[in-house]
Amino acid sequence: MCRHLAYLGSPIRLSALLHDPPHALSHQSWAPADMRGGGTVNADGFGVAWTQGDAEPVRYRRAQPLWSDAALPALAAATSSGCVLAAVRSATEGMPVTETAAAPFQEGRWLFSHNGVVRGWPASVAKLASRLPTTDLITLDAPTDSALLWALVRDRLRAGDTPADAIAGVLAETDAAAPGSRLNLLLTDGDQIIATTAGHSLSVRTTADSVLVASEPLDDDPAWTPVPDRHLLIATPTTVTTTPLGRP
Ligand code: GLN
Repeated sequence: MCRHLAYLGSPIRLSALLHDPPHALSHQSWAPADMRGGGTVNADGFGVAWTQGDAEPVRYRRAQPLWSDAALPALAAATSSGCVLAAVRSATEGMPVTETAAAPFQEGRWLFSHNGVVRGWPASVAKLASRLPTTDLITLDAPTDSALLWALVRDRLRAGDTPADAIAGVLAETDAAAPGSRLNLLLTDGDQIIATTAGHSLSVRTTADSVLVASEPLDDDPAWTPVPDRHLLIATPTTVTTTPLGRP
């Protein structure tokens, strides 16, 4: 299953997340440590988006394995940001391997990723999808469960939901429509990170002025703390709260 991470805080080089640490996202792409939901490598594309100042995030996605992108290490080493969301993908069986199926999904400053699977796709969530504006449905990033989850979250954000309510709401309705789904969701707007654990691993590491949330710890720093399953995490560079989600 996919691996993802989000960072907020004082600017760091993208390579400090993607390449440099012993278990950086590039390492997690070919040697993940905790693929509890199935799969062996995350080779079906990757994406990274980062924000600089007040500008909208810059996004770079590819359909190839992260480790095979020869241009990325230099780009990542030369780019610093205080807001980064990145993911490597292991496509669920039957879903297309295309650049646009890789997270981050984006609108404006919003960046989103999903690690997991929607059970019974697509029939199980057809009714949920039918509530979306037709334009959103015919312009999904890709015909995948993750892209639909993003469209559902985005719809709630546009309607004025708080980020935490949007994430918790979509998780609850997807749990109900598609029992047994794995729904580790990740969202940031540059000010806060919202993440869920529902079927997959997640850890968080804070420093005095930063927070990093990742499917797997990037190194053996004892500051990494695992987030228990079925929790909602809300983090800023200086605060982290986790609350139970309840059973589906
Ligand atoms: N089901 C999603 C996809 O195929 C995410 C897969 C994953 O987490 N491995 O894109």
